[in-house]
Amino acid sequence: MRGKRSKQYRKLMQQYGLSFGFREPYQVLLDADMIRDADRFKMDLVGGLERTLHGQVKPMITQCSMRHLYAAAKEPGVSFLIDKAKTYERRRCDHRPEDYPEPLSTKDCLVSVVDPKGSKTNKHRYVVASQELEVRKFMRGILGVPLVYINRSVMIMEPMAGATAENREKEERGKFRAGLKRGSGSLKRKREDDEEKEDAETKEDMPRKKKKTVKGPKGPNPLAVKKSKKKPEEATAASIKVEFKKELRTEAPNAAQPAGSERSVKRKRKRKLKSSDSGEAGPVKAEAAGEDD
Ligand SMILES: [Zn+2]
Repeated sequence: MRGKRSKQYRKLMQQYGLSFGFREPYQVLLDADMIRDADRFKMDLVGGLERTLHGQVKPMITQCSMRHLYAAAKEPGVSFLIDKAKTYERRRCDHRPEDYPEPLSTKDCLVSVVDPKGSKTNKHRYVVASQELEVRKFMRGILGVPLVYINRSVMIMEPMAGATAENREKEERGKFRAGLKRGSGSLKRKREDDEEKEDAETKEDMPRKKKKTVKGPKGPNPLAVKKSKKKPEEATAASIKVEFKKELRTEAPNAAQPAGSERSVKRKRKRKLKSSDSGEAGPVKAEAAGEDD
């Protein structure tokens, strides 16, 4: 179970990395209850976060969350936690005691830090580690906020929230389409570079396959027949049309060349024949005669 979940979390963080640019060290906003519960369950909070998020973390605490701890300073063990929390990076939420005699609720404070403009985006790529369901519930509505909490001494990362997952899928589809376009482009380039013989083989392959599935076997055995230019025209699928265009583009110059070179070869040989008529042209003469037929 532990191994399976660990694998899931690694994949999740990879997705957050790809879709929202999360990088190590992950900035983790901790609320006061997270710090207290980790202690209650005798958990190594930072170590647990690093195992859960599969990477280095930078634990952070807001001024308000710090004040929540101070408010409980008289409870046993909390002064020790305050000292510990002081080693974490302080996230200045600017909810100062002068302006806010009482610290803001965890939810109000963390929301103002994660999404100060209310644009539903997690601009600074915070991971939110909060024991309050209300906080996590609200954060699920902001795009790309990994959420962590402790449930009975087990650290849990929530699956990607609906909005976040949808956004991710949309982007993935876009990337996939872009990848397809790029892929076919390189294929074309590669094909043009390939030898003519190889090229003809692959082209012969594709229309044959399509024909079999669409129209069924008809006409002569395609294996026995040499490729002709008519074949792609017969096929109606758009992909085949593209193939045909490619074929035209690649073959047009090639078709002209061999014809020209053949003619020049013939001419050369004929000239050779004339010039070497008197000499040692016995076998050459026979060869040329054979070719003319
Ligand atoms: Zn605050």
